[in-house]
Amino acid sequence: MTAATTPGTSVEFARTLPVLDPVDVLVVGGGPAGIAAAIGAARTGARTLLVERYGYLGGNLTAGLVGPCMTSFSLDGSEQLIRGVFDELIRRMAAEGQARHPSEIPAGSAYCGFIEYGHDKVTPFEPEAVKVVAERMCLEAGVELLFHTFVADVLTEDDPAGAVTGVVCAGKGGLRVQPAGVVVDCSADADVAAAAGVPFEQGRESDGLTQPMTTFFRVRGVDDARVEEYVRSHPDDYRPYASIVARATAEGRFPSPRRGIGLYKTLRPGVWRINTSRILGKDGTDPRDLTAAELAGREQVHRLVRFFQAELPGFERCELLDTAATVGVRETRRIVGEHVLSLADLQQARHFDDVIALCGYPVDIHDPTGAGGGVDEAYGTANAYEIPYRSLVPLRVERLLVAGRCLSATHEAMAATRVMPPAFATGHAAGVAAALAVQDGITPRKVDIDRLQRSLLAQDAYLGPELTPHA
Ligand SMILES: Cc1cc2nc3c(=O)[nH]c(=O)nc-3n(C[C@H](O)[C@H](O)[C@H](O)COP(=O)(O)OP(=O)(O)OC[C@H]3O[C@@H](n4cnc5c(N)ncnc54)[C@H](O)[C@@H]3O)c2cc1C
Repeated sequence: MTAATTPGTSVEFARTLPVLDPVDVLVVGGGPAGIAAAIGAARTGARTLLVERYGYLGGNLTAGLVGPCMTSFSLDGSEQLIRGVFDELIRRMAAEGQARHPSEIPAGSAYCGFIEYGHDKVTPFEPEAVKVVAERMCLEAGVELLFHTFVADVLTEDDPAGAVTGVVCAGKGGLRVQPAGVVVDCSADADVAAAAGVPFEQGRESDGLTQPMTTFFRVRGVDDARVEEYVRSHPDDYRPYASIVARATAEGRFPSPRRGIGLYKTLRPGVWRINTSRILGKDGTDPRDLTAAELAGREQVHRLVRFFQAELPGFERCELLDTAATVGVRETRRIVGEHVLSLADLQQARHFDDVIALCGYPVDIHDPTGAGGGVDEAYGTANAYEIPYRSLVPLRVERLLVAGRCLSATHEAMAATRVMPPAFATGHAAGVAAALAVQDGITPRKVDIDRLQRSLLAQDAYLGPELTPHA
């Protein structure tokens, strides 16, 4: 065995790579955060490229089959907080019958999985429609899309210290360098930030464990009315079918560590999304762990479908429609930014002068070690809380912003901001800020907050009553 193939050693790997045309703003990842970042940057006038490893946009909206979009409203459902790109996408899909606007969806409905707390005004949508409508919105804004491309590394220079100058992309053509004025990391795993040397945290403070993974799937052939009737006639069940699940778990027959069935009615009759598989103890930044999770998740799904057919009223004639293209990863790296958003910030509705988004979704921690968890009133998050721009600005590294799931927050705060509407809102802000930084020839850390907020408002974002322009 040569030194280069000895396990546990390191090898130098030097290659000369072709350099592609530079762009002003490079968005890495085309999930909710990346879609909004790219559209925000392009609408602010930046030459914008969005690089995505899959062949379509959406991230968890599409590849993850995750849905519905959790609330974009205040916790009490009285006010829509997340507007901008998110609202535009939903309204365009709704116009084609591919989504329902959240204002029409009350807490406790079948679209919310029959859950009341934290589930007022969710957004049911068809994942296939996201792909095409998000593409149209990006192209109309002038965003260049590059699919089937994985960002594997980053290039930095020392002036200013640790400034990102571009990324190394991997595709069928090999490795290429993509230079950019500012990179917006919307990979959900902070891939670019980690490679650039931004400090990050992963998992909960006590033991570093992250929330479990879940393979989403959809079933068809469900008797919708029978499900509603069963769930509503069993109000003591903590979650739908919880007593049936508890019995089967006690008898060792339930395929997943869960306390009930996470089931969400879709816009198609008889079709429900199921959020019930659970894979514990895996690291979403380790491909071997991800592989093990894919295998375990799919195995659980097939056993769950058989269980549904045999034991759940309303699901007797259901069949598997599809499994997600990727296992759903709830939590990996969280960057350490200029402000680490904390649970106290969410509980006290702390006001930030550099507010760039408002959210109302509460803390939702799936137990990293067992069957428990979910939205929890005991955390006492405010009706509406703010996210500051500084939580998108990483420590140490320049010309880089981070948005979506991996922004700077504690394990608890991230468990609230991780859902899809907030990811749109923080992505939108990062994209606009990146474009402004390029326009002014400055690093994003120095962006003028007043100008950023005014630009976001001009693009229909909502930043709270004080910053709402008077009609
Ligand atoms: C099991 C599960 C259930 C959930 N339930 C809900 C729910 O019901 N409602 C809700 O609103 N939210 C839910 N969430 C949370 C939500 O889906 C995510 O936190 C949210 O999608 C984060 O958005 P994002 O844009 O940061 O990341 P993602 O949606 O993960 O998008 C990241 C994108 O970046 C791409 N990418 C990643 N790395 C690279 C790279 N190096 N190079 C190129 N491309 C890359 C990915 O392919 C992907 O398209 C759930 C999450 C999970 C896992």
